[in-house]
Parts: sequence; structure tokens; C-alpha cells
Amino acid sequence: MEGNGIKVRFAPSPTGELHLGSARTALFNWLFARGKGGRMVLRMEDTDQERSDPRFEDSIIADLRWLGIDWDEGPDVGGPNGPYRQSERFEVYRGLAKRLLEEGKAYPCYCTPEELEEKKKKALEEGRPSLYDGSCRELPESRRASLEAEGRRAAIRFRVREGDIAFRDLLHGWVVFPSGTVGDFIIMRSDGRPGFHLAVVADDVLMGITHVIRGEDHLSNTPRHLLIYEALGESPPQFLHHSLLLDPDGGKMSKRFGAVTVREHREAGYLPEALLNYLALLSWSPPGGKEVMRPEEMVREFDLSGLSASPAVFDRSKLRWLNQRHIRLMPFPRLVELARAYAPGWSSHPLFHLMVEAVLDNMAVLGELPKLLEPFGEPKELGEKEEEWVYGETGRKILERAQVLFREMPWKDLDGAKDVLSVLKGIFLERGLQAKEVLMPLRVALTGREEGPPLSYLLAVWGPEEAAERVKRALSRSC
Ligand code: GLU
Repeated sequence: MEGNGIKVRFAPSPTGELHLGSARTALFNWLFARGKGGRMVLRMEDTDQERSDPRFEDSIIADLRWLGIDWDEGPDVGGPNGPYRQSERFEVYRGLAKRLLEEGKAYPCYCTPEELEEKKKKALEEGRPSLYDGSCRELPESRRASLEAEGRRAAIRFRVREGDIAFRDLLHGWVVFPSGTVGDFIIMRSDGRPGFHLAVVADDVLMGITHVIRGEDHLSNTPRHLLIYEALGESPPQFLHHSLLLDPDGGKMSKRFGAVTVREHREAGYLPEALLNYLALLSWSPPGGKEVMRPEEMVREFDLSGLSASPAVFDRSKLRWLNQRHIRLMPFPRLVELARAYAPGWSSHPLFHLMVEAVLDNMAVLGELPKLLEPFGEPKELGEKEEEWVYGETGRKILERAQVLFREMPWKDLDGAKDVLSVLKGIFLERGLQAKEVLMPLRVALTGREEGPPLSYLLAVWGPEEAAERVKRALSRSC
């Protein structure tokens, strides 16, 4: 075993696209494993064959890889404790369920879903907890035989022992589930599918998992898992139940406030580094209070003891801010490569990198690129306000002068374009105009807009001929 024997797992159910909440679970496991030199397992919990879909397995894997999270064992890479899909491990679960049955630690249960539903309803009406009432716990053999003869197929139910169940969570400290609060639960369904709890524990045992890091929504499952460990004679791993992602209104993070999946954020143009950084920061204060961190820095600094148990409220504006910071941090050539996918209309332009540089300061997510690059395209129809800039007496003079200068000083690059603009500005500043009064008519004539990337970049990308042509067109429209 590598490192100090630490082994963690990320165990998604492939029933949908990777949610940011799950990505955060994967992230904590990954940061911990990578920081400590441990191993990471990816396990697909696809026992619910109706809701699971191989398409989602593929997309979860692709999204994790895009995020930069990797694993040492998993359905796609194999490993010594495979298979890593629960749907391929039913024999393992059946074997364990049989063993528990033989040892009297579990029993066949013939209750139908309708009967169970009825019992639950009754318990609720009478204000009792809706735990399984134990009707099949001590069925005489003869009764079992007659139920079987009726054609009933038994599920296998775990026999919960008397007594408190306690464990020390790495985040919450001691957690105690008092005796009587956990009812006998299904470990094998009557249709031969394993119950969730048995499958999870069987796999964690057989895969040698030392630390189970998962969301707080699983806290109430942990006593059942501990009971199974006990029954199998295995020592449990360490548990850490991290807080869940919440919306600003305190509810579970939902679509109501915006995107919730990794895929949606990727499509909107968030950088994987920024997402990881933000998801980690939500519950973790890095030493020294540093906020903007690259993944490798987080791996170095991360420690489970630095996690906070407080709810993690997802703040989309903070994520945008962090994304912008990561855009600026990223090596520029890499950013340009990433940006190509977001601006397909421009990506093959030989000066695409200049266009990206031109809008860098105004871009929080790469998905904004097409909009930000619009001024490089066809000029917009002028509105009344814009016409005033271009067709006033001063405007015309500036444009005419620009036309001449564009011919006289044809530029080849950004610096050349800057030179032309400063000459143009110089001429009119001398006549008492402000810089804005000189450049705005030109900008509006060239793009039809009052705002946009720096003029020097526009000129550099178009080159002198196209720029002159645009000015000519604007002037001709004023006649
Ligand atoms: N498959 C479970 C889920 O997607 C995770 C189970 C676990 O981490 O123990 O929520």
C-alpha cells in the first residue's frame, strides 16, 4: 500500500450530472488523499438500475477529469479491488447477506411494500417513530414456509442490536444514536438487489477504505453502517461528514438560484481551478487566510482539521470574482487555448490571442467572450446618441483625419496601432479637445458602440485597410 495506508473513495450514484455538492465531496477526498500520499478510489454506486445510466457515469468521469481530480482505482482505470461498479458486485453482496443470515444477524422479511407503507402510516398517526415493527424477526419456520408457499419472496433484514451506537466523527466529534432509534433495515431486497447500506459497507471493507469523507446527509446512515461492520467483525474506517451546500435562503442548493452542476459551470466558462478553489473555500480556511489558490497549493495546505462544520452558503458572485482572479492567474497561452471553445466564431482568427487580451479585464467567465468580442465584428446600427458623436462637425473632422492617418501610418501590430491613435489624439488635443472627445467618434464610427475593447486592439486586429474602410462607410452614411 502506498503512502501511510490512507485510502479514500468517491462514490457517486450515476443518476444525473455531477452536482457541485458531490464535486465538493470528491474534492475533499482528493485533497486529503493527494496531500497525504494516500490512494483514491472512484466507485459507481449504480445498484438502482432504473435510475442509473451509463451516460451519467461517463459524464461524471469526464467532469471529474475536467476538474483535475484523478483516482488510482476506478471503473475506467481498474485496480486490485475491482470491479468498481456496484452493479457488477451483486455476488459479493449476496454472499455477505447469506453469511449474516446464517449467523442469525439478519433474517428473511416477507412484508410487502404495501404492508410496510400501511405500518408506517399507522405509526405516524399514532405519533410513534416509523421504525420497522419487527413482525418478521422471530417468524417460526412453519410460518416462513407457508409465506414462501404463497409465493412471497423474502427480503433480508438486518437485526439491529440493543444499545447505543456511537462513533467519533472527524468533524463533529462524538455522535451517539441512542438505543431504539435505528430500526431493522433491509440489506438485500426481495428482487435480489442489495440494499444501499450493505453495498456501501461491503465495498468499503473489501476496498480497504480507511477514511469515509461524505456529506452530512449520510450522517443518519452511519449507525447502520457501523452495525454492519460490527456484524462482519471488521473495524470501521474513520468518518467525516462535511456540511452541505446551501442556497442564500438557507435551503439545499437548487436550480432556483442558478446552475448547480459542474457541466453547467463548465459551459458557462468557469475555470476548473476556480471551481475547485471556491468549493474548497466554502468550508475551509487555508492557513494564513489566503483565498486565491491553485489546486496544487490546496493539496499542500489542506488538512481535514481545517474544515468547518458550519453550513456552506453558495455565493455565486464570490465564485465569479474568484473565476476572474483565476483567469488572470492562468498562463496566458493556456487561457487562449481554453477560450477558443467559447468563441467558435473567432477562434481561428490569427490574432485571436489579441482579442482575448483586449477583453481580459472585463471577463469574469469565458462564456462572456462572444458578447465581449462583438465590437470586433460588424458595426452596430447607430442610434441617436451614437450619431451625435459621429456626425457632428467635430466628429466628421476627426474621422476624416483618421482616414488620412490610417493611410499614412499603416500599422502592423498593437504598438503601431497605439502610435496612430496617439498621433490622432495629439492633433486634436492641441485644438483643445479632451481625449474622450477625440476617441469616441472614432470608436462609434468603427463599431457603432460607445463601449468596447481598447481602440488600439480593435485597430491591431482589423489592420489599417479594414479600419479605413469602416471609417469610410461611417462617413458616407452621414451624407
Ligand atoms: N452513493 C452515495 C451518494 O451518491 C454516497 C455513499 C457514500 O458516500 O457512502 O450520495
